[in-house]
Amino acid sequence: MYDVKNNLREVLAQLPDHVRLVAVSKFHPDEYIMAAYEEGQRIFGESHEQELKRKHESLPKDIQWHFIGHLQTNKVKYIAPYITMVEAVDSLKLLREIEKQAAKYDRVIDVLLELHIAEEETKYGLTLEACRELLAGGEWRSLKHVRICGLMMMASFVDDTKQIRSEMMMASDFFDEVKQQYFADDPAFCERSWGMSHDFPIAVSCHSTMVRVGTTIFGPRVY
Ligand SMILES: *Cc1c(COP(=O)(O)O)cnc(C)c1O
Repeated sequence: MYDVKNNLREVLAQLPDHVRLVAVSKFHPDEYIMAAYEEGQRIFGESHEQELKRKHESLPKDIQWHFIGHLQTNKVKYIAPYITMVEAVDSLKLLREIEKQAAKYDRVIDVLLELHIAEEETKYGLTLEACRELLAGGEWRSLKHVRICGLMMMASFVDDTKQIRSEMMMASDFFDEVKQQYFADDPAFCERSWGMSHDFPIAVSCHSTMVRVGTTIFGPRVY
């Protein structure tokens, strides 16, 4: 098997204490997750509801699962009982559905708002303008079972580190803007989730607090 434990240690060695690692385990088998778990890793990222359900049922209960992919509203009810964080909320509709399902289980679910900054058109997420509108609308304040903990984004998948850096800094500056405007008194709003296998060292220098790394730890995904 891919040397998961060693790879994990090498990634962790590059992260300052204030940056947490989400080990992205989608499409990887349970034994890979357990290898990371034995090294002390507890936060894992998945992006398919059924795969996550199976893993959640068979793996240790103290794993904190982050849903990192695009989440369809009709899938929220399946993950609501146990999900720790939904990282990619990109509409008020999805926020409302998380509120509704979390309420059923008497839970508060942590979420991040996903920004669309990258140039690729296929990526999901809120434009900065749409995110400003969502926050200005104020409805989120009445959602008692959803806690907005910060922002998430994916930089363009390019080799140009200057472009990656500029997109991540745009996200970081935007974080500062909304933190000041809406969350100045809310210590829970503190997460900046950017950085993947190919760009997490850049993300660390662009104020990331959470990196989502899969391939570098677990090897290429077999779809
Ligand atoms: C798959 C995925 C990752 C991890 O990508 P790697 O390149 O394997 O590190 C990170 N974030 C999101 C949203 C993903 O879907």
